[in-house]
Amino acid sequence: MNKKDGVKKLTVACPRCKIGFDYYSSLFRPFCSERCKLIDFGHWMNETYAVPIKSDSVDEDLENKNEKEDGSEDE
Ligand SMILES: [Zn+2]
Repeated sequence: MNKKDGVKKLTVACPRCKIGFDYYSSLFRPFCSERCKLIDFGHWMNETYAVPIKSDSVDEDLENKNEKEDGSEDE
Protein backbone atom coordinates (compact mmCIF):
# COMPACT_ATOMS: atom_id res chain seq x y z
CA MET A 1 0.00 0.00 0.00
CA ASN A 2 1.29 3.42 -0.88
CA LYS A 3 1.05 6.11 1.73
CA LYS A 4 1.23 9.60 0.22
CA ASP A 5 -0.46 11.56 2.93
CA GLY A 6 2.50 13.89 3.35
CA VAL A 7 2.42 15.05 -0.26
CA LYS A 8 0.11 17.90 -0.98
CA LYS A 9 -1.59 17.68 -4.31
CA LEU A 10 -3.91 20.12 -5.92
CA THR A 11 -4.85 19.86 -9.54
CA VAL A 12 -5.80 23.16 -11.09
CA ALA A 13 -6.37 24.35 -14.64
CA CYS A 14 -3.80 26.64 -16.17
CA PRO A 15 -5.48 30.03 -16.86
CA ARG A 16 -3.59 30.22 -20.16
CA CYS A 17 -3.95 26.79 -21.81
CA LYS A 18 -6.62 25.25 -19.55
CA ILE A 19 -4.54 22.13 -19.02
CA GLY A 20 -4.80 20.54 -15.59
CA PHE A 21 -1.55 20.38 -13.61
CA ASP A 22 -0.31 19.92 -10.07
CA TYR A 23 -0.36 23.34 -8.47
CA TYR A 24 2.35 22.58 -5.91
CA SER A 25 4.79 21.08 -8.39
CA SER A 26 4.72 24.01 -10.77
CA LEU A 27 7.33 26.73 -10.38
CA PHE A 28 5.25 29.03 -12.54
CA ARG A 29 1.90 28.88 -10.82
CA PRO A 30 -0.78 29.79 -11.36
CA PHE A 31 0.45 28.73 -14.80
CA CYS A 32 1.42 25.19 -15.77
CA SER A 33 4.72 26.16 -17.34
CA GLU A 34 7.13 29.00 -17.94
CA ARG A 35 5.82 29.30 -21.47
CA CYS A 36 2.26 29.98 -20.35
CA LYS A 37 3.51 32.48 -17.80
CA LEU A 38 5.56 34.35 -20.40
CA ILE A 39 2.70 34.35 -22.88
CA ASP A 40 0.38 35.85 -20.31
CA PHE A 41 2.99 38.40 -19.24
CA GLY A 42 3.66 39.35 -22.85
CA HIS A 43 -0.04 39.86 -23.43
CA TRP A 44 -0.20 42.15 -20.42
CA MET A 45 2.76 44.16 -21.70
CA ASN A 46 1.15 44.56 -25.12
CA GLU A 47 -2.00 45.93 -23.56
CA THR A 48 0.04 48.46 -21.64
CA TYR A 49 1.84 49.67 -24.73
CA ALA A 50 -1.41 49.76 -26.73
CA VAL A 51 -2.70 52.68 -24.69
CA PRO A 52 -2.51 55.72 -26.96
CA ILE A 53 -0.45 58.62 -25.74
CA LYS A 54 -2.59 61.72 -25.41
CA SER A 55 -0.96 64.69 -27.00
CA ASP A 56 -1.51 68.30 -26.05
CA SER A 57 -1.02 69.42 -29.65
CA VAL A 58 -4.72 68.87 -30.39
CA ASP A 59 -5.77 71.38 -27.76
CA GLU A 60 -3.17 73.87 -28.94
CA ASP A 61 -4.41 73.54 -32.51
CA LEU A 62 -7.98 74.37 -31.48
CA GLU A 63 -6.84 77.41 -29.54
CA ASN A 64 -4.87 78.73 -32.52
CA LYS A 65 -7.87 78.25 -34.78
CA ASN A 66 -10.11 80.30 -32.50
CA GLU A 67 -7.58 83.10 -32.40
CA LYS A 68 -7.36 83.16 -36.17
CA GLU A 69 -11.15 83.37 -36.60
CA ASP A 70 -11.19 86.25 -34.14
CA GLY A 71 -8.53 88.13 -36.08
CA SER A 72 -10.18 87.66 -39.47
CA GLU A 73 -13.08 89.85 -38.40
CA ASP A 74 -10.83 92.86 -38.55
CA GLU A 75 -12.02 95.08 -41.37
ZN1 LIG B 1 -0.54 26.34 -19.41
